Parts: sequence; C-alpha cells; structure tokens
Amino acid sequence: MNAAPEAPAPLLIGGEAAKGHGPILEAIDPATGRVSARYQSATSADVDAAVKAARESFAHGTWRTKRPHERATVLFEAARRIAEASETLAQLQMSQNGKALRECRAQAKAAAATFRYFASVCETMEGELTTPRGDYLSMIVHEPIGVVALITPWNSPMTMEAQKLAPALAAGNSVILKPSEITPGTGLALGRIVCEAGLTPGVLNVLSGTGLTVGDPLVRHKDVGMISFTGGTATGRAIARIAAERLIPVALELGGKSPHIVFADADVDRAVEGVFGGIFDALGQSCVAGSRLFVERPLYRAFVDRLIERANTLKLGPPADPTSDQGPLASFGHRERVERYVALARADGGRVLAGGERPSGAPFDHGAYYQPTIIDGLTNDARACREEIFGPVLCVLPFDHESDLIEQANDTAYGLAAGLWTRDVAKAWRVARRLEAGTVWINTYRELSIATPFGGMKESGLGREKGRQGVRLYTATKSIYLSLAGGI
Ligand code: NAD
Repeated sequence: MNAAPEAPAPLLIGGEAAKGHGPILEAIDPATGRVSARYQSATSADVDAAVKAARESFAHGTWRTKRPHERATVLFEAARRIAEASETLAQLQMSQNGKALRECRAQAKAAAATFRYFASVCETMEGELTTPRGDYLSMIVHEPIGVVALITPWNSPMTMEAQKLAPALAAGNSVILKPSEITPGTGLALGRIVCEAGLTPGVLNVLSGTGLTVGDPLVRHKDVGMISFTGGTATGRAIARIAAERLIPVALELGGKSPHIVFADADVDRAVEGVFGGIFDALGQSCVAGSRLFVERPLYRAFVDRLIERANTLKLGPPADPTSDQGPLASFGHRERVERYVALARADGGRVLAGGERPSGAPFDHGAYYQPTIIDGLTNDARACREEIFGPVLCVLPFDHESDLIEQANDTAYGLAAGLWTRDVAKAWRVARRLEAGTVWINTYRELSIATPFGGMKESGLGREKGRQGVRLYTATKSIYLSLAGGI
C-alpha cells in the first residue's frame, strides 16, 4: 500500500468502473507525508450519472423486489468477502488515516460483522397487522425509500460505510456512497466487494470527491430521496437545511464533546484506564471521545496525577508497528487544528499537564504526530471545553456536588455520549438518567454493539443507526386498508 498506483482509482457507477470528470485526488499517508494513492474525483455530471443509474435500478426493481431471504443471501456473501479482504482493507484504511493497524484490522472484521447482522435483520424483518376498527384489514408495510445518499467522514471510514450501506441495502434501496475526500479508498473498495457479491448493477454507486463538488450536488439532487450523513455538526446543519427545503428525510450522526465523570467512590484503577481510553484511543478522533473530564474534588489531584502518568506511557509510532499504541493524527491539516485549540486553551489560562506538542526525532518528523495532552485550569465555558477538538486533548475540571456536576455536564451544545464511574448503583442510575446524551456508559466507556441503537441528542444528531430498528431509518412506512365488506 505504500507505493502510489500509477493510474488513479476510478469511480463506481452502474456496477462499472467509471472515469471521474473532476481533478485527481491524492490520499496522503499521515505517517510519512507521502502520497499513498490517487483517485479520480466526480463532478456534478458524474453525480447525475450515478443518481440516474441508481434510479433506474430502483425502478427496474430487481433488488427491491427480491424476497428478504434473497437480499439476505447477497448481504451474507458480502460479509464473507469483506472478511476475506479484511487485511487489504485494514492496510488501506491505515495508509489513509494513520489509525493503528490493530484497530484497522478490528474495524475491517467489524464491517463484515455489520453486513452479517443486517443480513439477519433483513431475513427476519416483519410488517404488522393493526387491530381493525371497522370492516377492513389494516396492515403496515415498510418500503424502501428509493435512491439514498450516504455521506461519511475520515476517522473510521470503514465502520461508517458498512453501518450505512448494510441497512440501506437490506431495506431494498439503491444507494450512492460519498466517502470523505481524505479517505476515499475503503468506500470504493467496499463498494466493489459488495457489488461483486451479487448486487444488480446500479444498486450501489460510489463517488469520490469533496463535499462541495460531490456532496452538495448529491444532497440537492431531485431524485435523491433520503440522506444519511455522518460528519461535523456544521456540515450536518447545512445538509439538514437543504433536506428541509426539499422535504426529504435525513439522518445525522454528528460531533460530540462528551463528559466523562469520576465520583470519589469509583474503582480508581478501572476509571483511569476507562478515562484514558475514552479520550486517547484513536487519539481522540472519535465522535464519542470523552473530552471533558469531571472528577469529584476529594479525588481530583490523585486521579489527575495517575492520568498524567498513564498518558506519559502511551507509545506513539508508525501505525503498522505492533508496539505502537497509536499512530499519527489523520492529516497534517487536522494536526494544525488541534494545535490551534491547545494554543487557545493556554491563552485562556489552561495549564498543560501532559503533552501539548509534537514529538520530535525519527519516526515522527515526517508524520502528523501529536502527543496525548491533558489540560486543567479551564472553566467549562472555555472554547477548548465547548468546541469539538477531535484530537488527543483532555480538559479536566473538578466538581463538588452532583447537581452542579449534572448542570456542567449538560451545559454543552452536544449530546452524543457520556461516561460515569462510581460504585453506587443508585447514583449511577440517577445520574445516567439525567445526562443529555444518546449513549451513557457506567463503569465502562466506548463499548459499542451493532445490535444497540446509536445516535445523538441536541447538536449531535438526528435519528438512530444500528440495532434492528436501524433498517427502519431507510424505509417509508405505508398503511394499507383492505375492505372486507362484500367479500374479496
Ligand atoms: P465533515 O463534516 O467535514 O465531512 C464529512 C463528510 O461530509 C465528508 O465526506 C465531506 O466531504 C462531506 N461534506 C462536506 N461538506 C459537505 C456539504 N456541504 N454537503 C455534503 N457533503 C459534505 O466531517 P469530517 O471532518 O470528515 O469528520 C469529522 C466529524 O465527524 C467530527 O465532527 C466527528 O464528531 C464526526 N463524526 C460523528 C460520528 C457519529 O456517529 N456521531 C462518527 C464519526 C465522526
């Protein structure tokens, strides 16, 4: 994966490799600064061609009218092929976003598992009969929407792409996937693999390109009937405005600024590991990163000292090296953004207790590396505590009372996730119920299951992905009344 291929990778339209009419994109390996791959990018004319292929395949109906067990068979085959290609997919993702190979491998296997899960959901989906209130039979059926646009970010592309493709296809839709321009590789590779598993041409199309040149025309296209987006809140809001104007459904998985809470009665060893992994796994480039830490005052100093010690043991290094805990940040531009936030925190009176700079020397000099960083001395209204940094930066704050804690934890525009550590079950339950977050972890963090709904409150999003109901996101509910008067 290190040498850039000579010919840029094409788009996928109508089941075939298609030449994009936009400029060539270069994927940069953030561990080395070298070009790892080249991609053709799409223009609005390519968007038209992909939507046309998707619309025609939907109208033709060979995918949407398949029986659920037939669609499930294709999705199971896709899962098998993704698992078979998992090492290639993992290397590809690592070369584009610098995530540790260990984690990329786990994500490739999880992408296969996601297809397996939704194949099972597809096979076991049910409609409903409602109790009649007259001389008729009333039924609810869930139908595919039509052409669905799926737009994904760069931090865990494979996970997000599988999480959207599998349920949207299980529901019988035709889809257009637009991966991030920073990591187009896995979306195109997954697209090809899933098509080869037995999809009718045109049911799955993949367009690489930027948000403005491809994402925006896709969202505005009159034949796109639904948008499923994962990415930043500002982008999500812009997409939601267009969807509102067009009156089409939109699902949004957006950013977060998740509170992570440690009460004085917590199991400290486990809490240190949970808080540490909650922010520094994936170097904070995770929507659920626990980036605001609240520690009850009697434990504050001792806990923060333990955390600093732990942060200083994190080993940065090349992502393919099994002894590296973490690789570089996903891009050089993103590292500069993280640095601006650390500078801002310093200017606001924050004290950098760990990290706060780039590591130096080989192998760091050519990569987008940044040290895990812990900052205290800020208040919850500082910009570093309010805005999503999406990097390895943890802001720590003490608290005195449960009521004050809940007020501070909820005093954020976001509502994606939260974590808390205590040995008191009643307190854990009470606080979990008061936290404004789509997911709350008690005495654990970052546990995620494909079988459990996931999504955000407030500015963290709209709708829930995953779980059996995840397929419903991609369906329209239809009620059918069949008169029984006069017989059939
Ligand atoms: P981003 O919003 O910049 O881009 C996401 C995708 O949207 C990319 O494919 C991009 O090309 C496209 N896009 C950009 N502008 C667009 C437009 N005007 N119209 C249509 N598409 C457009 O986000 P990012 O920097 O790639 O990803 C980081 C963000 O994603 C963070 O905020 C993170 O919290 C969020 N995220 C959320 C979840 C979740 O499940 N809630 C998961 C992962 C990442």
